Amino acid sequence: METTTLRCDKCNRDAIIFQKYSGMHLCRKHFIEDVERKIKLTIRKHYSIKRNETIAVGLSGGKDSSTTLYILHKIFGGRPDIHLVGICIDEGIEGYRPNTIESAKELTSQLGIELIVRSFKEEYGTTMDLIAPQKREKGTCSYCGVLRKSLLNKTALELGATRLAIGHNLDDEAQTILLNHIKGDVSRMVRLAPPKELEGLVLRMKPLRQIPEKEVALYAYLHDLPLGFGGCPYAHEAMRGEIRVLLNDLEVNHPGTKYALLSGFDKMSGILGREFPQEGLSKCRICSQACTEDVCQACKLLGRNQ
Ligand code: SF4
Ligand SMILES: [Zn+2]
Ligand SMILES: [Zn+2]
Repeated sequence: METTTLRCDKCNRDAIIFQKYSGMHLCRKHFIEDVERKIKLTIRKHYSIKRNETIAVGLSGGKDSSTTLYILHKIFGGRPDIHLVGICIDEGIEGYRPNTIESAKELTSQLGIELIVRSFKEEYGTTMDLIAPQKREKGTCSYCGVLRKSLLNKTALELGATRLAIGHNLDDEAQTILLNHIKGDVSRMVRLAPPKELEGLVLRMKPLRQIPEKEVALYAYLHDLPLGFGGCPYAHEAMRGEIRVLLNDLEVNHPGTKYALLSGFDKMSGILGREFPQEGLSKCRICSQACTEDVCQACKLLGRNQ
């Protein structure tokens, strides 16, 4: 039986991917070019990097953050005035986190980038393995997310970073937007918009926000980057899982849905910002980290305010 190989729509070489949302078949070269072009455009549009910046990259050792670091190094590695540094947070999850820290170490040493590893244990005196079995109001991932975000920001500030890059891809962004809509959480929506300067908070950037998760995985595979080591044993944020399935189904039947959600949100975010202005930040009276209230979320979750 004769098999036909699909051809790249740009150069007629063998295609390695069909982008249903764009209608394009792409070969390896043109796929890589397409991903990198979208990332450069995202950075130019949302995060205008100036001279003499230090970009800290939150590294989890998985495909998304590894790709983020790899591409930022490709774009900015030749600029002597831009400094890149990796930050890895060890939440204390046996059987999961140690492997990912090893792969972050390997990647940063290959690229010649400094890596800082900070742990919940040394910072908070506890680990997710200790927190997870306890009875609490919120799910395990809420604790982990708040504590990690806080430690990432604190470490980036200590390093003098002007940006903190994280590996959220298009799927993550589209899921979060839809989740916030469903929960009616407008204040989270405002915070999701490309950030403004707020004292005490390092500006966050998401270079992969226009790249579908599958394409990040393919890019990582083609560049021999870490793809992740199985899942975290505590990963079961129920509603996000449902939204992921729903969005993937919609994307199959209506290609471009995830992009449409993101671009609709980007159009709204300016209006949201004007209607719900973000207050200036004060300092947590317990740990001195920037926060909107008297005591920050991390200290509240750790019960330090009692
Ligand atoms: S899945 Fe949840 S508990 Fe595991 S690392 Fe992610 S946020 Fe933390
Ligand atoms: Zn091609
Ligand atoms: Zn605090």
